[in-house]
Amino acid sequence: MAQEKGLLIVYTGPGKGKTTCALGAAFRAVGQGLRVLMVQFIKGSWHYGELDAAKMLGDDKFEIRPMGRGFVKIGGAETDPADIKLAEECWNTGRDAIYSGKYDLVILDEINYVISYKMLEPEMIVDALRDRPERMHVICTGRNAHPKLVELADLVTEMKEVKHPYTRGILAQRGIDY
Ligand code: ATP
Ligand code: MG
Repeated sequence: MAQEKGLLIVYTGPGKGKTTCALGAAFRAVGQGLRVLMVQFIKGSWHYGELDAAKMLGDDKFEIRPMGRGFVKIGGAETDPADIKLAEECWNTGRDAIYSGKYDLVILDEINYVISYKMLEPEMIVDALRDRPERMHVICTGRNAHPKLVELADLVTEMKEVKHPYTRGILAQRGIDY
């Protein structure tokens, strides 16, 4: 019997495929009877196909909780306190889930993004992930993964953009991008 070890996985980089990769991992995990939760730090406004697909599997198997507002206000000198509050709430939900014993895999979708925009302290997150229950799998997605998270992780994949339809003016396609 292979030894069971919870993995810390990071999908980062500028190319497309980070969130969809995490969804693929979730799909595989559900098939093995694992209970999966995805908390989404940014998403909240658009309706993504995966929300309905997860419902088809059943909330007790795969639950997705969009906890953002679809965007983050940047450009000004300071980050909007409302965005920081949303990021903190989402982190608290994700961390509690990781420690709850109710899930086998927790996906923190776009957490790298909110860390790189300094809405959450990287040390706080890395410490909580390091001390998590031994068999918990965690996936972190988003561009610009923090070096401390990369260092702690067991598996890090960087999506490299080779081609993207957007650069030729082709907009997001239903069923592929949302
Ligand atoms: P996906 O959710 O499709 O797997 P992703 O998680 O890798 O993409 P994000 O950085 O979260 O990508 O970007 C969110 C949105 O931006 C997605 O709708 C995605 O299709 C689009 N996107 C991702 N990469 C690129 C890119 N290189 N150029 C333009 N748009 C992109
Ligand atoms: Mg994404």
